[in-house]
Amino acid sequence: MIVVLRPNITRKQETEVLREIRKLGYTPHVIRGVERVVIGCIGDERTQHSLETLISWPQVEQVMPVQKRYKLVSREAHPRDSVIPAGPVRIGGKRVHVMAGPCSVENEKQLMTTAHAVRQAGATVLRGGAFKPRTSPYEFQGLGEEGLKLLAKAREETGLAVVTELLSERHVDVVAEHADILQIGARNAQNFQLLIAAAKTGKPILLKRGMSMKIEEWLLAGEYVLANGNPNLLFCERGIRSFETYTRNTLDLCAVPIIKEESHLPIVVDPSHGSGRASLVAALCKGAVAMGADALLIEVHPNPAEAWSDGGQQLTLDRFARLMKELEPAAEAAGRTLKED
Ligand code: PEP
Ligand code: MN
Repeated sequence: MIVVLRPNITRKQETEVLREIRKLGYTPHVIRGVERVVIGCIGDERTQHSLETLISWPQVEQVMPVQKRYKLVSREAHPRDSVIPAGPVRIGGKRVHVMAGPCSVENEKQLMTTAHAVRQAGATVLRGGAFKPRTSPYEFQGLGEEGLKLLAKAREETGLAVVTELLSERHVDVVAEHADILQIGARNAQNFQLLIAAAKTGKPILLKRGMSMKIEEWLLAGEYVLANGNPNLLFCERGIRSFETYTRNTLDLCAVPIIKEESHLPIVVDPSHGSGRASLVAALCKGAVAMGADALLIEVHPNPAEAWSDGGQQLTLDRFARLMKELEPAAEAAGRTLKED
């Protein structure tokens, strides 16, 4: 930490601050400038008392942290890329995995048709919401446990891994029983008790970025998962709130290389929620792969016009199959592949 004192304070006031810094377990080093005194405080900011409270002292002008607030998710902790096992797939290696499926599980026919089609096109993970976080309480809330059973059946029939959202601590066990990856949605990205409960299952967690979440906050939310004994975490960029209204959210592709720099964990990109528009999904997928995404999460529906949720952003089965073909050269150009590696 660096503590900057206000100009023109007395030696006595300075000594009081130095005493407090030592009391909190840090070693102060004083730099005396022309107008101000700057104190470098040596000590581990993450394990000792924070010096931030010094800002309430009248003689202190600024307190600046030097260390990052996250540890286990950071590249420093683990310089090489982590590869996360999720059911039959391993995410974070050379292969760019595609997770695809409907926004909501609606019925057996819809899910099975989609599952077979996306597998045929090259996806390795089936997505589908059984518990849906809807903005309005009058909208379809998901099939619940019945939806989970259909997802498990689709996994059995196709061999795809399954990712589905966990909305409540009450459903941790049942969702963990049926899914290979537990999705924590944007609306729950800082629901720390839910993150801890999900982490304790040991299942891989796909942590979406909250819609107003800074990258540091997202990394710290991920830190909750690792700090609770679960190393299997995937970050998922799904767009943030901005002033722009052409798109549902603003997909922040900057987050991809930033997460790669800051963390050893894989980054997944969701261009469906990230834009809200099916016509933009292909371009955003190519951009995401070029930027270094380790996986894509894409909404696909046999008949988007009749979908029970998010109809405007879901791809048809045909469009998805074409997209998978278009993506291969983009993956190759980025030194990756969509096929088995
Ligand atoms: C979803 O993936 O279905 C979903 C609700 O996503 P988000 O949490 O990103 O809005
Ligand atoms: Mn959706």
